[in-house]
Amino acid sequence: MHLARFPRARFAHLPTPLEPLPRLGAALGIDLWVKRDDCTGLAGGGNKTRKLEFLLGEALALGADTLVTQGAVQSNHVRQTIAAGARHGLATEVILEERTGSKASDYMGNGNVLLDRLMGASIRFVPAGTDMNEELEASAEIVRRRGGKPYVIPGGGSNTVGALGYVDCARELMVQADAQDLRIDRLVTATGSAGTHAGLIAGFAALSVDVPILGFGVRAPKARQEENVFNLALATAQTIGAAGRVRREAVVADCDYVGEGYGLVDQGVIDALALAARTEGLLLDPVYSGKALKGLIDQARKGAFEGQRVVFLHTGGAQGLFGYQSVLEPALA
Ligand SMILES: *Cc1c(COP(=O)(O)O)cnc(C)c1O
Repeated sequence: MHLARFPRARFAHLPTPLEPLPRLGAALGIDLWVKRDDCTGLAGGGNKTRKLEFLLGEALALGADTLVTQGAVQSNHVRQTIAAGARHGLATEVILEERTGSKASDYMGNGNVLLDRLMGASIRFVPAGTDMNEELEASAEIVRRRGGKPYVIPGGGSNTVGALGYVDCARELMVQADAQDLRIDRLVTATGSAGTHAGLIAGFAALSVDVPILGFGVRAPKARQEENVFNLALATAQTIGAAGRVRREAVVADCDYVGEGYGLVDQGVIDALALAARTEGLLLDPVYSGKALKGLIDQARKGAFEGQRVVFLHTGGAQGLFGYQSVLEPALA
C-alpha cells in the first residue's frame, strides 16, 4: 500500500496521542490504553476527520464547490464535514434524520446541531426511516440545478475513500506502539457506518498485523454489522493493492450493547460515561464511544481481556453530550 497515491487534504492533528488509562484500567482489572482520535483537531475532532482528509482530497480534485452529506440529528460526522467544507471554502448541504425520535430541545438544537449552525451549513430535517440515499441525491440535484458542483459524502463518510483514513490510522498506531515497545493484544472500537472498523481491518491486513479488533456495534445486529464491515474492508483492501488479504474471521462485532437502539442512552452507557470521566477526566460520547465502553466494561468484568493489553480507540463525539442534557442530568443527580 502507498497512501500518497490518493488525493488528500491535510488538516487533521496527527499523530493522535496513544496514552495509558491507569485508573480506568485498574477499575476494570486490565491494562488499558487509549488512542485519542477525539483529538484530531477539526472543530472538536473525532474519527470522521481522518476520513475527511481523503474525501476532501477527492472533492477538491474533482472541482466540487458544495459538500452534501447526511446523518442523525446529533451526527458528529456532519459537524466535522461542515468544518472541513468551511476550511476549504466549500458550502455544505446536510440532511439530518430524526432517527432517535427525540424532540427534546437540547437534542434538536444543542450539541452538534448548534455547532452545525455556527459553521453555517444549510440544514434540512427529515423523519426517522427516510431513505437517506434518496435524500442525498435530491440535495445533490438541487445543487446541480443552481449551477453548483456537488460532492456527495455517504453517511459517516464510510466508503473506500473515507476508509483510507483508518488504513492510515492502523499504520500510525503500529508505528507508535513499536516505537514505545508496546505490545498490543486487542484493539477495541465503536462500529457504526463501518468505515472506521473496515479501514482498520484493511490496514492491518495490508501490514500483516494480526492484532484482533473488537467492534462494539451501536445500531445494526451482529450479522449485518459484520457483513457491512467485511464488504467495505474487502473493497478498501482492493483499493490499496491488498486484495485477497482480508479474512472474514478478522471481522468481529459485538452488538449486544446497543440497548434500546441507535442514539438511545441507558444506565449502562451513563455509568460508562461517568466512570471514564471520574477516573481519567476522559469525556466520551453518549452514542458511540460511551456505548462501546459500556460493552468493554462488561466484557472486562467477565474476563474477556484476561492478561491482555487493550487499546481503546476514542472516536470522539463529546460535543454530543450537550444534546443529551435532559437525559444525563437526572441520572447524574
Ligand atoms: C461515526 C462515529 C463512530 C463510528 O464510526 P463508523 O466509521 O461510522 O463506524 C464512532 N464514534 C463516534 C464518536 C462517531 O461519531
